[in-house]
Amino acid sequence: MRESSAFLHALRALGPVRLNEPLSRHATFGVGGPADVYFVASGEEHLRGGYALAHREGVPVFVFGSGSNILVGDGGIRGLTIENRTSEIDGPSPNGAGYRVRVASGVSFAALARRLAAAGYAGAEWACGIPGSLGGAVVTNAGAYDHSLAEILKSVRIADARGEVIELPAGGLQLDYRNSAFTRGKISDKIVLSLDLRVQPGDARLLTARVKALDRERKAAQPPGRNCGSVFKNPPGEHPSWWYVEQAGLRGHRIGNAQFSERHANFILNLGGATASEILSLIRLAQERATERFGVELQTEVMLVGEFT
Ligand SMILES: Cc1cc2nc3c(=O)[nH]c(=O)nc-3n(C[C@H](O)[C@H](O)[C@H](O)COP(=O)(O)OP(=O)(O)OC[C@H]3O[C@@H](n4cnc5c(N)ncnc54)[C@H](O)[C@@H]3O)c2cc1C
Repeated sequence: MRESSAFLHALRALGPVRLNEPLSRHATFGVGGPADVYFVASGEEHLRGGYALAHREGVPVFVFGSGSNILVGDGGIRGLTIENRTSEIDGPSPNGAGYRVRVASGVSFAALARRLAAAGYAGAEWACGIPGSLGGAVVTNAGAYDHSLAEILKSVRIADARGEVIELPAGGLQLDYRNSAFTRGKISDKIVLSLDLRVQPGDARLLTARVKALDRERKAAQPPGRNCGSVFKNPPGEHPSWWYVEQAGLRGHRIGNAQFSERHANFILNLGGATASEILSLIRLAQERATERFGVELQTEVMLVGEFT
């Protein structure tokens, strides 16, 4: 713990602070060591304020949303970790030919998609099974069933290291398959505060039926339990990543308490008490075999953060 008492004092003025908080409690994988300092931002002012404060004090800072696309190392994360629980939703309201909804980056994509569908707004219903926050969705241009966030994103408001707000049109984010200016390192030391999305009026009954059908499809295809969704991005070419994991003989393969799912080979399950190192060993094994046997590079969709011991 190297953070000064002045830093902790200033942070506590913004909201509750926990020390040595186990991140396994906050990531869907259920693994990960402690955050030195942990702060839950319940509003945009807290998110911006905590982020700027850390920069001002020279404390490393990590911001996350729902923890559904991170593998946190067993050594944890040094400095400040901020959980984004901002929740404001404004709209939809008429805008040009359609409707605009402004959503805080802490809002769950799935929850928003369901709410819009039930209220009779079309455009986001395909996202009803994406458990992460919209801030996380910007970073990887989250998508499903041949749709992605880029289709409905008009613009974002981001904050820089000083807490200043910048508005950026979607075109400035370089969104494509599971990539953005964030993943490419073109935008750094900045966080997403809110998104403006474009939706259209639709039939609530039909949209809700579509959500139910997608729920059934997802339930049949994806394994239950603690996981991070797809571990690898699909590589360019003929086969999806699960095919390479399977052909490498790793469907159902287990290291310690981590296992490639029998049902969907691009999922790794924490069977209970797995470590980040065990999960990482499975990832590396699949990558090595895919390269050796097929000359294919499997890139992780899940983001590795913190210290791996
Ligand atoms: C069961 C399951 C199913 C899934 N299905 C899908 C799917 O169909 N399609 C899909 O694309 N993904 C899917 N995912 C993965 C995940 O839900 C998405 O990637 C989601 O967008 C991640 O959001 P998050 O809030 O959980 O991000 P986190 O895991 O909290 O963070 C991921 C990264 O984003 C960064 N980040 C988060 N918020 C911000 C912010 N406000 N500003 C700047 N950076 C930020 C973090 O620093 C981190 O680097 C699934 C995951 C699970 C567990």
